[in-house]
This record gives sequence, structure tokens and C-alpha cells, in this order.
Amino acid sequence: MLQAVDWFDDGSVFVVDLALACCALESQSALAGRSAVALDQVPADARLVYTLSGTITHAMVPAIRAALDQLPGEATVVAFGACAITGGPYWDSYAVAKGAGELVHVDHFVAGCPPPPDAFAEIVEGVRVG
Ligand code: SF4
Repeated sequence: MLQAVDWFDDGSVFVVDLALACCALESQSALAGRSAVALDQVPADARLVYTLSGTITHAMVPAIRAALDQLPGEATVVAFGACAITGGPYWDSYAVAKGAGELVHVDHFVAGCPPPPDAFAEIVEGVRVG
């Protein structure tokens, strides 16, 4: 079951992180210690951030789309790390998609292999400002 992390602990911005591969160690590190709720507990006026953290295999594409469809509103979509942006070091693998941008609309691309937790935080905190 998907969970949404209340980034500021005030109900304003919730993050749903799809942990796909090693980049998720960084994104999950950024999220550690924050409270999480089920998707149906996210307030209607909250902002949503949906992150794809790690390698996107073709086998995972239906789950990625299904998770996006389950969100209780429009989300800012983040491709976190080289794999999520282009396939990264596995770009020529038959099993790996060539980036989230070919599958869904992506608002932010965060480069790195892996990017650091600070880069994750910067994007999420920018969502409340913007
Ligand atoms: S970009 Fe690098 S660290 Fe991130 S999932 Fe791909 S191989 Fe792992």
C-alpha cells in the first residue's frame, strides 16, 4: 500500500516515493523520521510530490502508472537520479526504460548516480514555495 510522507509535518506537502533501486537509499534517507499516512488521509488541498527513485525496468512501468493514478490529486513528478532520467548506467539494457519522461509527464529531473538527499529536499521544499 502506498504511503505519503508529510514533509513539513503540517499537512501542506506530501511525498510519495517509489523506491525502485539504489537511488532510493538517498530519497528514503531524506524522508526518514517524517510521519507517513495512507493516501486516503492526505488533505484535499495538500500539494503532492511523486518521486521515481532508481532504475525503471519495463516490468515496473504498469506499477509506476498505477501509483500515479492512485494519487488523490495532481502531483509534481520527480525523476530522481540518472537511471530515472535516462536509464543511467543501464541505458542499453533490454530490460530498462529510457527514462521516466518517456512514460509520464516529469516536472523535475534530478541528476546524479545517486543524487544526495539534499537534492531531494531542495525539490520538495521548492514545491511549497512554488
Ligand atoms: S542512478 Fe546510479 S545510484 Fe541511482 S539507481 Fe541508477 S545506478 Fe543506482
